[in-house]
Amino acid sequence: MHNRHHSIDNFRLLAACLVIAIHISPLAVISPTSDLILTRIIGRLAVPFFFMVSGYFVLSHYDNNDRVTRFLKKSFHLYVIGMCLYLPVMIYSHGIQSLPALIQDIVMDGTFYHLWYFPASMIGIIISYYLIRRLDYQYAIPIALLLYVIGLGGDSYYGLMQQLPLCRHFYESLFQVMDYTRNGLFMAPVFFVMGSYLKDNQPQKTHNGALLICAIGLMIEALLLHHFHIPRHDSMYIFLLPVMYYGFMALLECKSKEIKQASTLAMIVYMIHPLMIILVRGVAKVSRVPWLVTNPLIHYLVVCSLSFIIAGVIIQIKERLYQTTSKTPLYTDRAYIELNLSHLTHNVNVIQKAMHDDCEMMAVVKANAYGHGALPIATHLDRLGVRSYAVATIDEGIELRQHGIHGEILILGYTDVHRARELKRYQLTQTLIDENYAHALNDEGIPVKAHLKIDTGMHRLGIDYKDIDAILSMFQLPHITIDGILTHFSSSDSLDDEDVYFTRMQKARFDSVIHAIKEANIPLPKVHCQSSYGFLNYPEFHYDYIRAGIILQGVTSTPHEKTVLSLDLKPVLSIKSHIALIRELDIGEPIGYSRTYITTKKTTIAIIPMGYADGLPRNQSNMVGHVLINEQLCPIVGRICMDQLMVDITDVDASINDEVIFIDMDEETVRAENVAERSHTISNELLSRLGHRLPVVISN
Ligand SMILES: *Cc1c(COP(=O)(O)O)cnc(C)c1O
Repeated sequence: MHNRHHSIDNFRLLAACLVIAIHISPLAVISPTSDLILTRIIGRLAVPFFFMVSGYFVLSHYDNNDRVTRFLKKSFHLYVIGMCLYLPVMIYSHGIQSLPALIQDIVMDGTFYHLWYFPASMIGIIISYYLIRRLDYQYAIPIALLLYVIGLGGDSYYGLMQQLPLCRHFYESLFQVMDYTRNGLFMAPVFFVMGSYLKDNQPQKTHNGALLICAIGLMIEALLLHHFHIPRHDSMYIFLLPVMYYGFMALLECKSKEIKQASTLAMIVYMIHPLMIILVRGVAKVSRVPWLVTNPLIHYLVVCSLSFIIAGVIIQIKERLYQTTSKTPLYTDRAYIELNLSHLTHNVNVIQKAMHDDCEMMAVVKANAYGHGALPIATHLDRLGVRSYAVATIDEGIELRQHGIHGEILILGYTDVHRARELKRYQLTQTLIDENYAHALNDEGIPVKAHLKIDTGMHRLGIDYKDIDAILSMFQLPHITIDGILTHFSSSDSLDDEDVYFTRMQKARFDSVIHAIKEANIPLPKVHCQSSYGFLNYPEFHYDYIRAGIILQGVTSTPHEKTVLSLDLKPVLSIKSHIALIRELDIGEPIGYSRTYITTKKTTIAIIPMGYADGLPRNQSNMVGHVLINEQLCPIVGRICMDQLMVDITDVDASINDEVIFIDMDEETVRAENVAERSHTISNELLSRLGHRLPVVISN
C-alpha cells in the first residue's frame, strides 16, 4: 500500500529474469567470464531477494502467526503444484528413484532443479520465525549467520573446507542427506531474518556507497573463488550478505510505479520457466529451427517472453475465475486506522533518551493502546525491547500474553479476585487498589504478583499514604509478591503554581511512604509515579519506571501545550477512508438527519463511509469538523451518521475513491489534538474511543 513496496514488487520481475538466466546462460556465446558474472554472481541475488521479501512481509507483522501460517500453506500448495507439473519430466530425467532419495528430494533438494526454493522457504521461515519470535534479533541474527557460514563451507568455500579433514568429514556426512547446503536450513534463514529486521527497524537512510563497495567485493570474491576452482556450488558468498542488506535498503527508498500483479507474475514465471525451456527446445527440434536454441541469447529471450506471456494468461484466467479485480484491498475498502510504526520507534527512542539512565519505560497500552490497536503496538514495542507494559483490565493483559508479549504486564485497574488463577496462569501483575482488596486477593490462596498503589491525593485507587501500618502489612501477605509500588499524579499536566504545588506535595507524600518501607527494612520494590505528563513536566523526578501512555503515540492531550520537557514526538495514527459517492445539490437543499444543514449555493458533496460508530465524535457535525481530501480541507456538512458522513467538496478537485483523512499525523488542523479540541475533549478520549470497527493497517 505504500509507494516503497512497489519497487520491491517490481524487482521481483527482474529477479525472475535472473533466475531464468541462471538456467540458460545467455551470455555463454559472448565469453565464459561474462556468463560467470551474470549467472554465478548477479543471478545469485535473485533467490536471497525472494527470501528477504518474504521475511519483510511475512515475519514482521503483529499477526505474525496468521501470516506465517498463510505463507506456509501457500508455499506448500505451490510446491505440490510444482511437483505435479514436473513429475513427468522428473521421471523422464531421473527415472524412478528409490524411496529414500525421493524423500530427500521432497524434503530438502526439491524434486526438480528449481523447486528446492519451496521446501527451502518453508524450512527457512519456520527456523527464522522461531529465532525471531522466541529469541529476538540479538540471538536470531548471530544464529542465522552461523548457519549461513556452515552453508558457505559446503558451497562456494567447499574447496577450502575440504583441506581440513574434520570439515571434510562433516560436509561429506551432510551431503549424504542433502545435495547442497544452499537450502532452507543453512541459506534461507539469514535472508528471512534480514528482511524482517529491515521491516522492524525501518532504516531511514541508504548506504549506497557501502553497497557499491560490497558489490565490488562480491565480484572479486566470486571471481577469485572460481578462478581457483574452490566452489562446489556457488549460491552463497560472504559479500552476498551486505550486498543484499544494503541493496534491499536502496530498493526500499526507490519510488516506482505499481506494475499490477508483479509478485504473482514473478512467482508463476519462476514456476513455469523450466517447462518453457523444454518446450522451446522441443519446438526447435521438431520444427527444425535450431537457432532457437543454438544461440543461447535468443533461447533466453524466447523463454523469457514465453514465460511472461503464459504467466499473464494464467493470471487473466485466475482473475476471471475468482473475480478478484477490486482495485483497493478489501481490508481498507471502507475506513481504517493507519499506523506508522517507524514513528512509534522514533517516540520510544526520544523518550528513552530523555529518561534517567537507570529508569525503564513501562508502555501503557490500555484501551487498545489508546485506540491504535494493542497488538500491533505492543508487538512492535516488544521487538524494540520494551519489557514492561501496563493495561487497564485483565482481559487486555491476557490478549497481550496470548500474542507473545514478554515481560511484565501490570493491570492498573480493578480485577475481580476470583480471576486470581488467570493472573497466575498468564503471569500478570495486579495493582493492589486498597487494603481490603489485597486481603481478598490473598485469601484466594493463589500466588500472585502485585504492585501496591498509594493514594497521595488523586483519591481514586490506592491505600492512603498516611496509613503506613496498612501499607507495611501488605508485604506480609503470604500469597502476594509485591514487585512494585506506585502512585498517580492528578494534576501533573498543568504548570499553574497551585498544580505544581499539589504535584510536589503528592511526590513528598509518596516519598514518605518509600522512606517508611526502607525504615522497616523491607526490600524496596520498583517505584514509579510518573505518567506522560508527570514525565514531561517533572523530568527531574527519579524513579524506576516512566509509565508512558499518550506520549508513546506521539500525541499530546491538547494542542499547543507548554511542558517543561518538549520532546520531538511523531503521531503514529491516521484515520483514513475513501470517497464513496459524489452528488450535486441545488441551493436550498437539506443534508442529512433532521435537515440541520441547508445548502446556500449549488453544492457538491461527497459521502464518506465512516461515522460515529467508527469512533468519530458526532459533535464534529455541521462545519465543526473537517476532513482532508487531496490536501484540501472539506467541512463536514449535516449530522455525522452512525456509518457515514457528508462533506462539502464544491471547491475541491475530487473524485470517487479519492483518499479522505479524518486524523492525520502531519497536517496541523486534522492532528488528533486539534480534532479533539473541536470536540471539547482531549486526544486521549478521542483516540481511545476508536477502533472497535476500524481495521488497522501498518503503513511503515
Ligand atoms: C492511563 C494511566 C497512565 C498513562 O497515562 P498517560 O497520561 O497516557 O501517559 C499511567 N498511569 C496510570 C495509573 C494510568 O491510569
